[in-house]
Order: sequence, then C-alpha cells, then structure tokens
Amino acid sequence: MIVVQKFGGTSVGDVERLQRVAQRIVDTRRAGHDVVVVVSAMGGTTDELVDMAAQVNRRPPQRELDILLTAGERISMSLLAMAIEALGVRARSFTGSQAGIITDTVHGKARILAVTPERVRDALGDGDVVIVAGFQGVSRETHDITTLGRGGSDTTAVALAAALEADVCEIYTDVDGVYTADPRLVPAARKLDRLAYEEMLELAAQGAKVLQVRSVEFGRNHGVPIHVRSSFNGSEGTWVVPQEDMVEDAIISGVAHDTSEAKVTVVGVPDRPGVAAGMFTALADASVNVDMIVQNVSSDGRTDISFTVPRGEVEQATELLGGRLEGIGAADVIVNPAVAKVSLVGAGMKTHPGVAARMFDALSRAGVNIQMISTSTIRVSVIIDDAHVDDAVRAVHAEFGLGADAIVEEQGAG
Ligand code: ADP
Ligand code: ASP
Ligand code: MG
Repeated sequence: MIVVQKFGGTSVGDVERLQRVAQRIVDTRRAGHDVVVVVSAMGGTTDELVDMAAQVNRRPPQRELDILLTAGERISMSLLAMAIEALGVRARSFTGSQAGIITDTVHGKARILAVTPERVRDALGDGDVVIVAGFQGVSRETHDITTLGRGGSDTTAVALAAALEADVCEIYTDVDGVYTADPRLVPAARKLDRLAYEEMLELAAQGAKVLQVRSVEFGRNHGVPIHVRSSFNGSEGTWVVPQEDMVEDAIISGVAHDTSEAKVTVVGVPDRPGVAAGMFTALADASVNVDMIVQNVSSDGRTDISFTVPRGEVEQATELLGGRLEGIGAADVIVNPAVAKVSLVGAGMKTHPGVAARMFDALSRAGVNIQMISTSTIRVSVIIDDAHVDDAVRAVHAEFGLGADAIVEEQGAG
C-alpha cells in the first residue's frame, strides 16, 4: 500500500514536533507501507521570508520571490529526512522540481500541469521513505522554480497521491479534521466524519483554509480519498469522498469565512453595453482574480459597479482602472479593504428552498448589514463589514443547527 502523508507548518513548527512527525512516519513505514511525505515550511517561515522580501523591495520580482519562498520547505524536508534516519529508517528528500512537479509559468500561484515522479518511484523501490518539499514546482517552459500559492503543500500531496495511485492521502494538520465552521472562531463547531468533494471545494474556495482548493480539485478529478486529521493525536479525522459515498445527506455542511478580499467600487459608470466587458477584460488580462460582482440600479444613465478581489491584488486593480477612468467614462475608483465574506455551503440546498432567506434573517437579527450577495447551486455568500465577521459566522452556524450541542439536543428530544 502506498500512503501519502502531508504535514503542515504547525505540525513541524519546531525541532521537537519535527521529531514526533518523524516517529509517526517511521511507524507507518515499519507497518509495511510505502510512505511518501509532503512537508510544509516550519510554521511562520513563509511569512518571515515574505516580510524580508518586502523590506528589500516593495514589489519583489515574482521569480525571485518564488525561489526565496521554496527555501522554507527545503529546510523542513532535509531536517525531516535527517530525523527519520536518526530513528534507523532510510529517507531521501526531494525538492518539488526533483520530484517531478511540473507547473505553468505563473509565479506565486502556479498550477500543476503534470507530475512525473520517477525519482520518487525509484526511491520507494529502494525501500526508502520519500520526503517531498510541498508548495513548489518547476516550469518546463522557463525552467524556473514556481510556487503554488499559500497552502499549496496540500496540492502537492494530493497531486502526488494521484500520480502514484496512492491508496490514501493523509493531510495532518493542527485541528482534528474538517469542522462545520473554523473551530477557532466557532467553539461549538462540530467535526464532520465525511464530506463530499463538491462541498469541500466550496468551503475551501470560500476561505476554509484547512485544504487548499486546488488539492480538492485534484482529489475529485482523480478519485483520491483525502483524510484530514490531527498530527497531535491518533484519532480518525474527516474523509473527503465522492458524493455517492456519503452515508447521510445533511442539507447544510458548513459555514466558511474569508477576510482576505477587498471591495472595489467604480463610481459613475455609463450604463451602456460593453462598459463592464471592457473593465473586466482589462482585469482578467492582468490576471486579477475578480470574485463577486454587483451592479447597482442606474440613475441618469450612470451606475456603480462593485467587485471583490484578493487584498494583494487591489493595488493592481485600482491602478489599472484608475488609469482608464476617462476611457471608461467613470468618475472614481473607491477601495474598501474592511470587508469579509461569509458563506453557507450544503449540497441539500439544491432541493431545499428558503435557505438564503433564513441566512439573511439570521444575519439581520445579529445586526449585520449585507453589502453584496452571490450564490451557486450549493452555496450562498454575503459580503459584510469585517468587524462583524465573528458574530455573522456564529449566527448563521447556530441558525442551521450545525453545532455539536444542536445534535445532542435533537437526540435528547427524540
Ligand atoms: P496547515 O499548516 O496544517 O496546512 P492550515 O493553517 O493551513 O494548516 O489549516 C488549518 C486551519 O484551518 C485550522 O487551524 C483552522 O483554524 C482553519 N480552518 C478554517 N476553516 C476550517 C474548518 N471548516 N475546519 C477545520 N479547520 C478550519
Ligand atoms: N509554506 C506555504 C504556506 O505557508 C505552503 C503551505 O504551508 O502549504 O503557505
Ligand atoms: Mg495549510
């Protein structure tokens, strides 16, 4: 059996934790499995490297930033291999490039195009434990080193598991699994035993950073069973599986929140065909990730268009649109970074009407004003003032009875 195990930053946060992780890997190897380990940088390292880069250059060249950031994972991969050898088991570490993680050329958020893990297979064939640095790859086109975006080690792990046809991809992290909401924000949140890929995709895309969204895409597209579990205990975590493997169908599976976006409003836009197309084509050409879009009711032939983008891309977006105000015929561009997105996710929404209404009602009772709304077949998202994010998530979570206490009450009553 081939097992891929991924350990996140907190799990390898210091030398002692790294040694504990090494012991767990050795135990899996001694149980007779082929083990491939994907490791993140030690907690805080990536942020420190980003800060240092910003100190020497306000806008660091993307190529150099990527090379710098991959250093974090190279430190943990080699230390982990040494710690495993110290326990008497042979281990060999590889960078993403050495492990055959081939990506496109988009620095900072590269996509994996192919995985060619020949060296990993050879090392497994020799009976070695293989350690792979997460979050990084190489472009065949430019031969440059790329990174996969924050949280990208998850994607390295699932992509490798798919390429190696591993039996399971275990994601070891600092919580016991996937919860109905971020357990750090909602103490009553409940651990889910199972979750469908589609629901996990929505939760991850809407800010539940326990898995990077692309890792879930890989899992779904290649049928890799993903087991999210704690690196600090041995308990069963959450299995992310195909919809047809779900034993029972909850209407709502969870609430996600995201405070990493900002709202941009273009004021006084002429209300005629082609204007929105021009604006958003310019943004797309510059690889700015636009999320929600709202166009207000127009008066006197003019309207306001608001949209959200990752905070890191705001400057780019406003410079781009600010430079075109005359061409667009708009009056101004305004940025509001103090927004949060709260999303309710559940496959059962498809067949149960009224979910959005209940969510909005719960928010209004909590005194939270809604600025923007967007929906998919299994999700409702709102943009609110970020000062209210905790209250909003807790209110929505309680309204749909997602907490551990709600289940106990129901059982008691039944
Ligand atoms: P790692 O360093 O192991 O990759 P991350 O910090 O990237 O860990 O992801 C784990 C964190 O995700 C948890 O500590 C938790 O605060 C957060 N999180 C957000 N939403 C959820 C959720 N629905 N279930 C579990 N954890 C969540
Ligand atoms: N070290 C990277 C980050 O902090 C990648 C990861 O941990 O998955 O985002
Ligand atoms: Mg992570």
